[in-house]
Amino acid sequence: MIHPGLLTIDFGALAANWRLLSERVAPAVCGAVVKADAYGTGAADAGPALYRAGCRNFFVAHASEGAALRRALPQADSRIFVLNGLEPDADPIGDYCAHRLMPAIGSEAEFQRWRARAPASMPFALHVDTGMRRLGFDSAAELHDSLARHGAQGVELVMSHFVSAEAPGDPLNDEQIDLFAEARLLLPGVPGSLANSSGAFLAAKPYGDLVRPGYALYGGNPILPQPNPMACVVTLEIAIQQIRWIEAGETCGYNSLWTARRRTRLATILAGYADGLPRGAGAIDGRPGAEVAISGARCKLVGRMSMDLCIADVTDLPEDSVRPGTRAEFFGPTIPLDDFAARSGTIGYHLLTSLGRRYERRTISP
Ligand SMILES: *Cc1c(COP(=O)(O)O)cnc(C)c1O
Repeated sequence: MIHPGLLTIDFGALAANWRLLSERVAPAVCGAVVKADAYGTGAADAGPALYRAGCRNFFVAHASEGAALRRALPQADSRIFVLNGLEPDADPIGDYCAHRLMPAIGSEAEFQRWRARAPASMPFALHVDTGMRRLGFDSAAELHDSLARHGAQGVELVMSHFVSAEAPGDPLNDEQIDLFAEARLLLPGVPGSLANSSGAFLAAKPYGDLVRPGYALYGGNPILPQPNPMACVVTLEIAIQQIRWIEAGETCGYNSLWTARRRTRLATILAGYADGLPRGAGAIDGRPGAEVAISGARCKLVGRMSMDLCIADVTDLPEDSVRPGTRAEFFGPTIPLDDFAARSGTIGYHLLTSLGRRYERRTISP
């Protein structure tokens, strides 16, 4: 049985986006962040597609994601880093050795456990915090003390993470670049990695040796509000089930939160928040909502999002251009992902990583 929601993932566009970023940051090397199942696109397909495009450095959040990715990327020259660091209960031999994973170690305690239990030859990364206050050694001084205790053998990469790379005017970006440069002095000759997608577009070019884009690879706009330089990877289209007219003053959806201002034609669409659509995507009285494209025209979602359904206002479309079975594009080539997200009160990252499991998935190979 085929689901009325169709999710199309274009791995050719994914590969093209990687190549674009790769050329942009050269001579730095471009990696790929494939955590959260490659931002919802499916890491088992995205990983090999990126590898074929030339990518050799992959980043996941958890060791378990790394282990799954390793099955898709058995090649000896592919490297997998685990961004979240050595989990409190991780067994470096079992989890990391068996699948050739490298944790981004970010504290003295993690470093101690690694040295106590991992073979000296096993490579790993070090994470130094430069402002996020989330993961990593608190300062270059702390990193210095840990390195004095444990030595630098096996350190393959030193990394940090931007707080506001998507806001190029934020002075914190330059402060982080300086703090990271200071930390790198402790590890001469060790490659460094700082930039995420938006970091790869900062004027200061903080590329280091290895860049870590995620969102931009999957078609998200890394330089909002400027036009998106990336190709569209993910398209979500969902079929209409019913169409009806309501009178001015009538309402639709749970709790009657949206009121028709005119005689209105409504189309009921076959997906809702159980499919990952934001609960705030529909307009309610006094607050606009997101738009979808039906037969090429933008239509507003109205009323509160249901679990398995939502409603669009199709009054302005020619009557015969909307019928049961017609698909509405939620995001894709017509409605930019970032546009749908912003109008729904969320971000494109959240939409991608919440994509429902019920959709029919169609993949386009490079
Ligand atoms: C998620 C993540 C990235 C990728 O960020 P994007 O904004 O998606 O490019 C890079 N580095 C770290 C540490 C991350 O957690």
